[in-house]
Amino acid sequence: MVNNLENNFKDDFKNDLAKKLVLAVSLVMGCSGETVQETGPSRMVNFQMSEEGFYCDFNLDTPLHPALFDRIASAMKELDPGAAGGPDRALESGVVYELDHFSGVYENGDANGRMLQRIYVLAFDSKEGLDAYKALVNEASLRDHKILGAQMRLFSSSEDIGQGLVLWNPKGAMIRYLLEQFAQAAHILNDYQWVYTPHIGKAELWKRSGHLDFYKDSMYSPIVIDEEEYYLKPMNCPFHISIYNNEAHSYRDLPVRLAEFGTVYRYELSGALNGLTRVRGFTQDDAHIICTPEQIEEEVANALKFSLYILRSFGFENFSAYVSTRPKVKSIGDDSDWEMATGILKKAVVSSGLEYKLDEGGGAFYGPKIDLKLKDALNREWQCSTIQFDFNLPTRFEMSYIGRDGSRHAPYMVHRALFGSLERFTALLIEHYKGEFPFWFTPVQFGIVPIKPSHDFYCKELAGTLKNLGFRVNADYDDINMRNKIKNFELEKIPFLLIVGDKEMQNRTFSVRSRKGGDLGAMDVSELCVYFRDEVEKGKPKCIF
Ligand SMILES: [Zn+2]
Repeated sequence: MVNNLENNFKDDFKNDLAKKLVLAVSLVMGCSGETVQETGPSRMVNFQMSEEGFYCDFNLDTPLHPALFDRIASAMKELDPGAAGGPDRALESGVVYELDHFSGVYENGDANGRMLQRIYVLAFDSKEGLDAYKALVNEASLRDHKILGAQMRLFSSSEDIGQGLVLWNPKGAMIRYLLEQFAQAAHILNDYQWVYTPHIGKAELWKRSGHLDFYKDSMYSPIVIDEEEYYLKPMNCPFHISIYNNEAHSYRDLPVRLAEFGTVYRYELSGALNGLTRVRGFTQDDAHIICTPEQIEEEVANALKFSLYILRSFGFENFSAYVSTRPKVKSIGDDSDWEMATGILKKAVVSSGLEYKLDEGGGAFYGPKIDLKLKDALNREWQCSTIQFDFNLPTRFEMSYIGRDGSRHAPYMVHRALFGSLERFTALLIEHYKGEFPFWFTPVQFGIVPIKPSHDFYCKELAGTLKNLGFRVNADYDDINMRNKIKNFELEKIPFLLIVGDKEMQNRTFSVRSRKGGDLGAMDVSELCVYFRDEVEKGKPKCIF
């Protein structure tokens, strides 16, 4: 293993640091540096470099704990230069490092494998580099959707229900409702047809689609109903195809664009599950576009434009597009089809004003695709939209339309999801906005604060008026003082407070306080509507084609 370490690290300073770490672990764990090998009591079995440093996995008799970890860190600092053999390039080149944290990991991610102790080390060539990295990590942790989601009571999970299965609490569900409302209306305005399909389908269907051949590892065990096997759906495609195949189509009916919020279930290793980003059940904003060969170019370009429109509506501006080409092994379809389709995808990206990067061999076995990643406030990339050609399913399901020539043809089909999944996109929104969402999709827009119980009646009337105007409001009629009401609303990150005292009640106004902008003075309902007109407008989906 030490030899591998030498080879892998080449001349990198991380090499010296890793050897020092191995030595420090050996010293602290009560064994000598020479026994750091497969059979010794302190064994380093794996190491991996990263941008910010490296980690090493040790097979130790005693699991690490904070005190041991601190002793290893001190031992590493105390080791003389060259103690790990050879010159200390790390020290000579002014490298700064820090033992970051440790965790127990299963070897090769296999829950039946042995438990290893992983030590993460941060290593930079300057103190500025290390500090900048730590500041970024700190900022990321303040934005962590799991932490904010719990603090703001947006979503939860329950051991009784199962891992990777999300419960949307009322406030998180309100965000999802607003996302769904916007996206569903936008789809309908832009000539998609909305459909609903079941969560399970017969084994026969999944055999025909090829999922039981190619995708079974990600599917759950069958459910038997009336002696027939059914599977939870891992994808929505066969259902949309069945809707298409229910009727005969002529070229005049095409394109057909079927859209749905389709909830799918896919197996993920329990160790891989993470908040809203890796789950076992999730809802895609899924659609299938079925069209003629003449229409395909415009359909793909429009799908991409539509995707950018939706994502921009949520405040995102930084995108990178990847075009994934034919996999080297196991894929179906003619080379000429792949070339044609890949060309169309590239052209669509360019015409949308973006540049593409090629992901050679990264396509699905059934066709090439565009993946759209977007950058959040911390410049981290998130995979969102995907637009995929499919040379497989139209044939398997014998999809057809009658062409101008009066004979039967196979249509082209494209799968596309724009948010990707509602779960993942919500996680992204939470982290990007740090839980302080733009006005149009914040769960509660106004907190109403009656200063005294005598103002409650007027506040109830005000709440009703604002609700009827389409605003989301919450009023606090508890018998507590005004300061506490304001504090509670601020903890919930409600962006605007409407405070009502004697004077405001008399004038039929309220005093507006913005979370970010401070006191905005007194307004009445019509002034409030004018003030928020532009913000409200952002949440109204448009026909863009
Ligand atoms: Zn599909």
